[in-house]
Amino acid sequence: MSDLAIEALLDDKHPLKVETAEWARAELSKGDRVSTDRDSVFAADDWKRCAARGLQGLLVAEEFGGQGRDIISALLILEGLGLGCRDNGLTFAIGSQIVSTQHAIEEFGTAEQKQRWLPGLCDGSLYGSFAITEPDSGSDPFGLSARAERTGDGSYRLSGRKSYITLGSVSDVVVIFASTDPDAGRWGLSAFVVATDTPGVELQPNREKMGLRTTPFGDIVFDGAVVEDAERLGPEGAGAAIFGATLDAERAFVFATHIGAMERQLDETVAYARTRTQSGRPIGGYQAVSHRIAEMQLRHETSRLLLYKAGLLVANGRPSTMAAALVKLAASEAAVASALDATLVHGAKGYVSEFEVERELRDAVGGLVYSGTSDIQRNIIAGLLGLG
Ligand SMILES: Cc1cc2nc3c(=O)[nH]c(=O)nc-3n(C[C@H](O)[C@H](O)[C@H](O)COP(=O)(O)OP(=O)(O)OC[C@H]3O[C@@H](n4cnc5c(N)ncnc54)[C@H](O)[C@@H]3O)c2cc1C
Repeated sequence: MSDLAIEALLDDKHPLKVETAEWARAELSKGDRVSTDRDSVFAADDWKRCAARGLQGLLVAEEFGGQGRDIISALLILEGLGLGCRDNGLTFAIGSQIVSTQHAIEEFGTAEQKQRWLPGLCDGSLYGSFAITEPDSGSDPFGLSARAERTGDGSYRLSGRKSYITLGSVSDVVVIFASTDPDAGRWGLSAFVVATDTPGVELQPNREKMGLRTTPFGDIVFDGAVVEDAERLGPEGAGAAIFGATLDAERAFVFATHIGAMERQLDETVAYARTRTQSGRPIGGYQAVSHRIAEMQLRHETSRLLLYKAGLLVANGRPSTMAAALVKLAASEAAVASALDATLVHGAKGYVSEFEVERELRDAVGGLVYSGTSDIQRNIIAGLLGLG
């Protein structure tokens, strides 16, 4: 194990994390967060501030405009971002672009595709999305109906609707999956990296949602959009392998910011339980309250250990599908359970919007759904155990 990985596991106040958290606290999400959440306002200026600090480019090679960081450093920095920035919608959008769109382009793209898209995605001038889900195909991505038909002159005609796409309503570029050979089932799926100003591509308006309301989110419609051979990502028929590998990375790492947010919530809940008194005692002196907070600590710590274990496996080129499913399942369910505990510890203050506790609960629920629901993670884990 590398020294950095040992430090990351043993020192939850690692300087990379703490420095990022201090910067995020000072620079990000300084306006009225209750109204920006209510009105689903995306913090475009904060997005650019993060890019100027190199956050979107953490894992991208320097030749394509990134920082070329190792995975453990990147996780520490993303954890610090989630710890310091109270806008979970912003931090989720950044994490999602890094681990899905950018990861897919860097891992599977040609030199031209990387050069065309990665510098702009890293410097904050472009938004990228990753689109598999359709109105009738979610947990079963092999059931997707988007089609990319050969035109006979070396291009494809792309048709279909992608739904519930993170950054979908503002995307400049989308990695989209469609069938190039419906008779071949999963072996007939292909990936494309497409500019959204291509004629026949239409971004739909932001869809209002329960939580992560400041993340732009929407459908993308493809209506006979002509895309060139050079816009295909990987070979024809490699779509399932590309989204399988990308979803593994997403499941393993997208919770880094949220695990940071869980630590912030834990710190604030401890502070509240120490200072709020009822019947002449701090409420943290009541076992019912202190045990709830002890569970929050346990959930945070286990999620964090699973995150860094997944990071170590990926950094060492080891199989990581089991670890990715475990961290996704554990962290998403922990985030919801701990946000509910924080709400309960805060009493009515936890329930009203102005104290910003209930928002954390709403923000956490989406984690049970994106990157595959909890049921799907359990299916993956059971399948790897030889069951089902
Ligand atoms: C905040 C957020 C961001 C998202 N971002 C993106 C994005 O950027 N790109 C993208 O492509 N998609 C995105 N999605 C969509 C997400 O990936 C899908 O919603 C998810 O895969 C579930 O699909 P579904 O909504 O169609 O539900 P369904 O697949 O219809 O599932 C409904 C219910 O049935 C259960 N179920 C279905 N099949 C099985 C099974 N085989 N075994 C056990 N239970 C099963 C599910 O667990 C769930 O409880 C996002 C969703 C959210 C909420």
